[in-house]
Amino acid sequence: MEQQLKTLQQPEVHQIWQCLHQIADPELPALSITDLGMIRTVTPLQSGWRVTFTPTYSGCPATEFLLNEISNTLTQAGFSPVHIEVNLTPAWTTDWMNADARQRLRESGIAPPQGLVCEKLTDAEPITCPRCDSHETEKISEFGSTACKALYRCQQCLEPFDYFKCI
Ligand SMILES: [Zn+2]
Repeated sequence: MEQQLKTLQQPEVHQIWQCLHQIADPELPALSITDLGMIRTVTPLQSGWRVTFTPTYSGCPATEFLLNEISNTLTQAGFSPVHIEVNLTPAWTTDWMNADARQRLRESGIAPPQGLVCEKLTDAEPITCPRCDSHETEKISEFGSTACKALYRCQQCLEPFDYFKCI
């Protein structure tokens, strides 16, 4: 019975993912919360839906805002009631950001996280300039416009840029 219910609701699950894909991250407007991997699962319930959500940084002020956004967006699209479960374990990591998201981050002028945290490649590699692809860059400050970014400058094009740190 439950299996049958789930099969019937698969198209809706897909639509919910599409709705969630429209919600931009307030700190990284080029990316949506699904690009960042913040939505972990969408599950049909007997009545309504369960969405599991992992914030990029626990204690990030954007979390409260996003929970409201998710709830409002899905309710307006006709999916309710929505139960949002905040999952802090495992903690969010930049490894969950997909290749497309990394590319769009670069296009918006922010160097995406290089390498994967789980492979521990991060410190050895020079950070690539998002504007001219030069590897000749230097770190100016551990903290950029937000705590998750470091400020770099490119020695080729001389432009400063934010680097989204691997976490
Ligand atoms: Zn450059």
